[in-house]
Amino acid sequence: MNILFMGPPGAGKGTQAERIVEQFGIPHISTGDAFRLAMKEGTPLGVKAKEYVDQGLLVPDEITNGIVKERLALDDCKKGFLLDGFPRTLQQAEALDVMLAELGRGIDHVVNLKVDRSLLLARLTGRRICKTCGTTYHVLFNPPKVEGICDKDGGELYQRSDDTEEKVGTRLDEYSSKTAPLLDYYSGKGLLREVDGEKDIDVVTSEIAARLKGTL
Ligand code: ADP
Ligand code: AMP
Ligand code: ZN
Repeated sequence: MNILFMGPPGAGKGTQAERIVEQFGIPHISTGDAFRLAMKEGTPLGVKAKEYVDQGLLVPDEITNGIVKERLALDDCKKGFLLDGFPRTLQQAEALDVMLAELGRGIDHVVNLKVDRSLLLARLTGRRICKTCGTTYHVLFNPPKVEGICDKDGGELYQRSDDTEEKVGTRLDEYSSKTAPLLDYYSGKGLLREVDGEKDIDVVTSEIAARLKGTL
């Protein structure tokens, strides 16, 4: 199954992706994670991406498309994939169509997690992530058992440098102007599956799984 997750920053894409890839046995491809890893390692890609990520701006399409193209060509994507945070512009969506056509593949479902903008600032500024395994928590909405420590492996939790009030404003504006229009693109192709992302995390997971299995 080939799946895209759409929705504004903080909608719950990463949280839900962790759970859905486990159920469906497919790789999770997050362009945001790929940029953060490259930035941490200081690779040429990371140095370029940092200029944009640090300001809350989208990384240019040519850079972003290249990463996804390489990743989708790897063998583990043959059984399917979940793309989280890509595409984010119409140009990326069109480039993705070409990449998939070349691989003889297509998109099965585009899941849109709907969350009102008024909830996103609190979700993003309270987000914490495990340094070791990448699991996402929230200080209020999904706290770990022990503050600052991952439940799964005892890893230390950190806050993303772009999860500040100032950067969140820019990121949400980028979403509204460049990414939200993609919903019409996928709706026109009959691929869009709208899911209420404001419900409890477990409820959202069940609803996504049901939409993917065609039982809801
Ligand atoms: P995205 O990947 O779309 O940017 P995340 O999955 O990282 O979003 O979620 C953003 C924050 O909101 C995280 O701190 C996460 O724990 C929290 N969160 C995710 N889903 C929900 C939910 N359904 N209800 C409350 N908080 C949530
Ligand atoms: P995310 O982890 O999805 O919130 O992404 C973090 C940051 O990485 C974004 O604010 C952008 O700067 C960059 N980024 C991630 N995915 C993309 C994409 N598809 N296109 C452009 N920039 C992206
Ligand atoms: Zn962990």
